[in-house]
Amino acid sequence: MMKKNRKAIRNRMSRRHVPQRTCVACRHVRPARELVRIVRLSGGGVEVDETGKKPGRGAYLCPDAACWELALTKQSLEHALKTETTVEEKEALWRQCRSLPRSPSANPVGSTGG
Ligand SMILES: [Zn+2]
Repeated sequence: MMKKNRKAIRNRMSRRHVPQRTCVACRHVRPARELVRIVRLSGGGVEVDETGKKPGRGAYLCPDAACWELALTKQSLEHALKTETTVEEKEALWRQCRSLPRSPSANPVGSTGG
């Protein structure tokens, strides 16, 4: 006599899968909703995606001015999105950067100025 007594309990509702994304500047992995999405436009160039739902290839940055500065100076966004940004677009990104809070714990790496 063979009896199979299998219990399949699925607790689907208990825990939701949270999509994780990587900040292109500091490489920290965070839930996508905690990051700012920058989307590549179909005609080229980039735009800050406030809703996070725009179609197109997206890159993510922490809502932290330090990460934006890093991404803008190192062209991480262009690299991640495989596109180029115009002067106007870059200006818009810098404006966004300046509107963001700067995390007080941020450590600028080796800045030796003359
Ligand atoms: Zn970051």
